[in-house]
Amino acid sequence: MTEVSRTVSTKAILLGNEAIARGIVEAGCLVASAYPGTPSSEILPAVAKFADELGSPMAVEWGVNEKVAFEVAAAASFTGARSCAVMKQVGLNVAADPFMSAAHFQLKGGMLLVVADDPGPHSSQTEQDSRYFAMFAKVPCFDPCSAAEAREMVFDAFDLSERFGIITMLRPSVRVDHCRQDVELGELRPPKGQVKFDKEPSRWVCLPASVKVNHPRLNAKVEEIRAAFETEFEKYNYEVPSKEKSVLGIVASGVCFSVVSDILKGWGREDVAVLKIGTPHPLPVKMVTDFISRQPKVLFLEETYPVMEMQLPDRTGILGRWNGIVPGAGELLPETVADILAKILGMDHPAGEGSPLLRQAMEELKITPRKPMLCPGCPHRASFFSIRQALPNAVNPSDIGCYTLGVNQKAVDAVMDMGASVTMGSGFFLVHKAAGMERPIVSTIGDSTFFHMGLPGLASAVYNRHAFVLAILDNSTTAMTGGQANPAVGEKLRKGDAGRKVDIEAVCRGCGVTFVRTIEAYDVGAGKEAVKEAWEHAKSRSEPAVIIFRHPCMLLRPQQSAVQVKVDPEKCIGCKFCINFFNCPGLVFDEKKSKAYIDERFCVSCGVCVSVCPHGAIGEISGEGE
Ligand code: SF4
Ligand code: SF4
Repeated sequence: MTEVSRTVSTKAILLGNEAIARGIVEAGCLVASAYPGTPSSEILPAVAKFADELGSPMAVEWGVNEKVAFEVAAAASFTGARSCAVMKQVGLNVAADPFMSAAHFQLKGGMLLVVADDPGPHSSQTEQDSRYFAMFAKVPCFDPCSAAEAREMVFDAFDLSERFGIITMLRPSVRVDHCRQDVELGELRPPKGQVKFDKEPSRWVCLPASVKVNHPRLNAKVEEIRAAFETEFEKYNYEVPSKEKSVLGIVASGVCFSVVSDILKGWGREDVAVLKIGTPHPLPVKMVTDFISRQPKVLFLEETYPVMEMQLPDRTGILGRWNGIVPGAGELLPETVADILAKILGMDHPAGEGSPLLRQAMEELKITPRKPMLCPGCPHRASFFSIRQALPNAVNPSDIGCYTLGVNQKAVDAVMDMGASVTMGSGFFLVHKAAGMERPIVSTIGDSTFFHMGLPGLASAVYNRHAFVLAILDNSTTAMTGGQANPAVGEKLRKGDAGRKVDIEAVCRGCGVTFVRTIEAYDVGAGKEAVKEAWEHAKSRSEPAVIIFRHPCMLLRPQQSAVQVKVDPEKCIGCKFCINFFNCPGLVFDEKKSKAYIDERFCVSCGVCVSVCPHGAIGEISGEGE
């Protein structure tokens, strides 16, 4: 959940995501839907919090995935209400289908799509730039450089959406989402217009014949919006002129503007002009080309693709991503931008990793890099251990979320995107069958992910008779994004809004799965037996079998009995089996003594490791003097 913000008169110190949420509520939005995903996850809970505080009647809901969230919001806008869908950049891939269609519609109520991008990336499987998606769908995009600007843009994005009957995109990147800034707080504006759905099939039914009208109209809107961005949006698109004769012009969008402004200020450079662009699509081309014409050379700084650069009619002499001056991947961190600028300006400034100051700071901080691991006591660790030990030769596709970390336990072989563990299970089955081979397959997926996109894959596997085991690791939350509810949990976001839990077992049975078994995830013995049995069932009947490993995520602080454990050095033969296949931060290896031992700092006394050591060296501490 979001943190409580500190209110200072009419301003509050808000997280970027909270600032966006505040704008959504104040703007009179009536329906907001989202699927969590870092860096966007805090937006919807903050919308619910502000809606409660301001007494908005709006509906605030998690969708089971981004496509669902988008379509819910789109339908609401068909009635004339303001609506909003929120997701992260890879989520837009899931919602791409309705997004592309809805862009062609002449919308009635304002519809805002917030897509949080993750250059870096910090917690994503891609570094894609959603501004490209805006350009692909031909919708306008706002790219904020700060939390306060992000909030402000929400109002203008809604207004623009209503003015042109088009979806607008707000594309904050991770540094805007997660920065903190003092942000103006406003009052709740009354919802705009009446909620009234008029039956107009030619408008609301995306018939192929309508495209002949819709697409040219969309093209015309793009040009009208471009003209508006040239002249009416000076608060987002403006020049910071150089005080001295300019030696370099910089065109910067989004957070790159804030970064480059800080660097130039810090260096005291007053001979560089900057053009800030807050609306990268459609690019105000006249404004940009006029700026370029007045500069000796021009550098483009934008994350992550050359979206502004590629809209220029003439890129001759432009320094940027096209010609490799700016790296083609990765976040434009201050040290990266400083390095680029230093080279162009001919400065002897070791700003990046070679910087003695940065090196010294790193040394002083004594940062020891540690690879990401499942938390101590995480139920997934026990589940992965059971699966791996039951069928060591199995192929193990897995999914997005904490499960990816099962790679440390050698229990995850392939991860592609949300829900793909199920469909990859089908693919691995089919290829082995076609080659006349047999190999066990155990796919792993989480509860939220199962509802997100696992279900269609399961229905397909039942229908097509694909033999594999699907292990649903149900920890009663959406853990990696911060613990949001999902249909398996049943809770909703706004106070007094009661949800209803959807029973995973019944859903699987309803899909036609005949083997559905639920196991306490910590029970390694039962888990191993269930996996073997499930595979035999799947193999013999040529159909998928499901095991639900259930135990709450440690983030939910489950009430569970504490089992104090120790490693008996007499029995430990130093084989490292526990380290390599259980991989708990509480169980470490003393290389000098060649023995495993328990690190009390991390052990949460879940007791699962007692059943891990094949030599019986890990045991429960019992009795006095132990
Ligand atoms: S957050 Fe929850 S699911 Fe993720 S590693 Fe920690 S305990 Fe496991
Ligand atoms: S505790 Fe057991 S598994 Fe771990 S190193 Fe010692 S003997 Fe091997």
